Amino acid sequence: MKTVSRSHKLDNVCYDIRGPIAAQAKKMEDEGHRILKLNIGNPAPFGFEAPDDILKDVIHNLPTSQGYSDSTGIYAARVAVMQYYQQRNIQHIRVDDVYIGNGVSELIMMAMQALLNHGDEVLIPSPDYPLWTAAVSLSSGSPVHYRCDEQAGWFPDLDDIKSKITSKTRAIVLINPNNPTGAVYDKALLQDVVDLAREHGLVVFSDEIYDKILYDDAEHTCIASLADDVFFVTFGGLSKNYRVAGFRSGWLVVSGNKRLARDYIEGLNILSSMRMCANVPCQSAIQTALGGYQSINDLVKDTGRLRIQRDVAVDMLNSIDGIHCVKPKGAMYCFARVDEKKFNINNDEQMILDLLRAEKILLVHGKAFNLTDGVYFRLVFLPHSDVLVPALHRIGNFFQHYQQG
Ligand code: PLP
Repeated sequence: MKTVSRSHKLDNVCYDIRGPIAAQAKKMEDEGHRILKLNIGNPAPFGFEAPDDILKDVIHNLPTSQGYSDSTGIYAARVAVMQYYQQRNIQHIRVDDVYIGNGVSELIMMAMQALLNHGDEVLIPSPDYPLWTAAVSLSSGSPVHYRCDEQAGWFPDLDDIKSKITSKTRAIVLINPNNPTGAVYDKALLQDVVDLAREHGLVVFSDEIYDKILYDDAEHTCIASLADDVFFVTFGGLSKNYRVAGFRSGWLVVSGNKRLARDYIEGLNILSSMRMCANVPCQSAIQTALGGYQSINDLVKDTGRLRIQRDVAVDMLNSIDGIHCVKPKGAMYCFARVDEKKFNINNDEQMILDLLRAEKILLVHGKAFNLTDGVYFRLVFLPHSDVLVPALHRIGNFFQHYQQG
């Protein structure tokens, strides 16, 4: 019999956050082990409840949400997104610039499929949220990773970006606030990226899904607010700021020099109509979420639950001999460096597997984020402190004795 093989389109596509180590964790759970899963930024299972109004709104709208909507989304949601970005100082945006999708994930795929021809290059941060690299590869483009500098608070290295721009470069991706590093970029850096994009005719894709999850004195700037002569595509959604990742509700907004991008926008229209529309009941949550009380602010303020857990996680990681973590200014992750010489590590994936087997804690290894140098892991700091503290003690114990062969 002929075997059924996957498409070659998938040759360079991987998404290791839910990869083989997560599969091993699932196997261990099936065998009766309790695994603490700190691998995925999914707030709800850790007791982060969505604002009540959002739930009520979806339930209220359910009976009238049975049909398809317009492919770009229901009008009320698109107006709410437009107004949100008007308040965030993006100029000249109209309701037709907003596309509602089944989460940012679907829209990242659409945005790349609509743009790329074989061999077109897209600049992507390293480390990155790996869907970006995967989406570029699957869309027959070539991901080109630019360095984010740990010594500079994980800010992008502008010289490295410049050195990687070629005649094939079509776009640059920013993830701000960043997953996995938690960096929040300042205006000066964003302005430099805009200048580069202008000089080289690049599209700027800005993934801002964590734009309200900010700690300390961090301020978020929408890069698309900094110019109207560069073409921007900005992404946001409900999964993180409003803790309803399961609703699969997100948006994409085109702005800036849209005249330059008429043909690309037509491509987006084709792709969004091919998938009919996003889940309709959950689209009705968008207006309520953006217009309602922003309870996320209570979670990230100095006495807020997320902020306290961030501090617990960073402080405890940094107290482990051989581990170092730059304090995240946004999002919900700690990205920690492991002293590879001290622990004799040559395989970061094996390290995370060894931790899983020994301590029943699931993290994600640094290479899953398309980082080639050094040994790192990402930890999600969503559990309550009474779970996080013992878990970090166990991680500390693990590294006290760990030596890789
Ligand atoms: N972009 C970033 C940077 C993320 O971290 C995630 C999820 O973790 C996504 C996009 C996907 O979001 P959504 O749930 O809207 O598909």
